[in-house]
Amino acid sequence: MSQEHDQPVNSESGFTSQLDPMAQSQMIDPFGRHVSYLRVSVTDRCDFRCVYCMSENMTFLPRKDLLTLEELDRLCSAFVTKGVRKIRLTGGEPLVRKNIVSLFGSLGRHLESGALEELTVTTNGSQLVKFSDDLYAAGVRRINVSLDTIDAAKFKAITRWGEFSKVMDGLDAAQRAGLEVKINTVALKGVNEGEIPDMISWAHGRGLDMTLIETMPLGEIDGDRTDQYLPLSQVRANLSESWTLDEIPYKTGGPARYVTVAETGGRLGFITPLTHNFCESCNRVRVTCTGTLYMCLGQDDAADLRAPLRASEANDLLEAAIDEAIGRKPKGHDFVIDRTGQAPAVSRHMSVTGG
Ligand code: SAM
Ligand code: SF4
Repeated sequence: MSQEHDQPVNSESGFTSQLDPMAQSQMIDPFGRHVSYLRVSVTDRCDFRCVYCMSENMTFLPRKDLLTLEELDRLCSAFVTKGVRKIRLTGGEPLVRKNIVSLFGSLGRHLESGALEELTVTTNGSQLVKFSDDLYAAGVRRINVSLDTIDAAKFKAITRWGEFSKVMDGLDAAQRAGLEVKINTVALKGVNEGEIPDMISWAHGRGLDMTLIETMPLGEIDGDRTDQYLPLSQVRANLSESWTLDEIPYKTGGPARYVTVAETGGRLGFITPLTHNFCESCNRVRVTCTGTLYMCLGQDDAADLRAPLRASEANDLLEAAIDEAIGRKPKGHDFVIDRTGQAPAVSRHMSVTGG
C-alpha cells in the first residue's frame, strides 16, 4: 500500500475531488483508488468442472434469481456513467449463457461513443468457434482464454468435462476473427508445474501472451488446496535459470505484472495474490449474475443492486446503492493457503464472483 493511500481519503475534502472536476461522477473508494474496471459474472454455470474451481456436483443458482440480459445491460451502463472504462464479462462460462452475444452487442454502443475503452471476456474457449466473429463484430478486440495444459489427457483430468480439441479449434477461430488472445494458466503443483516452460513456448510461438495465476482459496472444492498451491515466486525463479526475464511496465488494467522472455520474444504475466498482494492498486469491482456487487474478490462484504435496479426505471436508487458500496470497498484481501486446514477465505466459488 502506498503512503498516500494508507489511510482512507475523504472524497468530500480529499485531493481527488478537489483536483478533478469529473470526480463527482466517478467512483473513488475510501483509500483514494479510482474504480474504473467492472467484471460481470453473467452466469455461475459452466460446461467444465475444473478441479480447483468447482466440485463435480455443483448446485447452481435458480434461473429465476438471475438478472435478465436487459437488466445486466442497464447495470453495466450505470457503471459506465459512473466512470467505468473497462468491462469484462466472465462467469461461470459466459459464452454458455443463452443469447449472451446480444449483451456484447448492446454494450458495444459504449465503445462506439467512447465512454468505454474496452469490452472483453474471460472464457474457457469451448464456444469460440461459434462466437468469435460475433465478439469481434460487437467491438471486442482482446480476450482471455483459460488453459492450464496443452496435454489432452491432462486437460481432461483438470477440466473433468472439457474437450481439448474444441478449445484448440476455438483458439484458431478467435485468432482468425482478429481477436488478440491471452492465455491464463493457473499454476498447479504436481499437475502442470513441469509443463509451464513448454506452454510458454507454445503460446509465444502462436503469438499469444500468457499469464500465470496462483490458485486462490475460493469456495469448497473436492480436494485440498494446499496440494495444488504452487507459489509463482518459485516458478519464476525456475524459469530464470534457463530464460532471461526482463520486467516491463506493460499494463492491461488488471493485476498482472509482466516480463518479456528474451528467448521466445513473448510477454509473460504473473498474477500473485498470495506471494505478492496487489491490492494497493486495485481498480476493480465485481457484479454477479444476480446483481450482487462485491467490492473485493477476497472479502464477503457485498451490496445488493438488484432491488434498487428493479425498484425504479430511473437509475437514482441504483447509483446511490453503488456509491454507498464503493464507500466501503475494503483495503484488500487476506488470502492464505497453508497446512492449518482452515476454511476457504470466502465461501463462494470463483465461478460466482467471476474471475
Ligand atoms: N469459465 C471462464 C474461464 O475459465 O475462463 C471464466 C470464469 S473462470 C472462474 C475465470 C478464471 O478463474 C479462470 O482463468 C480460472 O482458471 C480461474 N480460477 C478459477 N478458480 C480459481 C481459483 N480458486 N484460484 C485461481 N484462479 C481460479
Ligand atoms: Fe468453468 Fe472456468 Fe471454473 Fe473451469 S475455471 S470450471 S471453465 S468457470
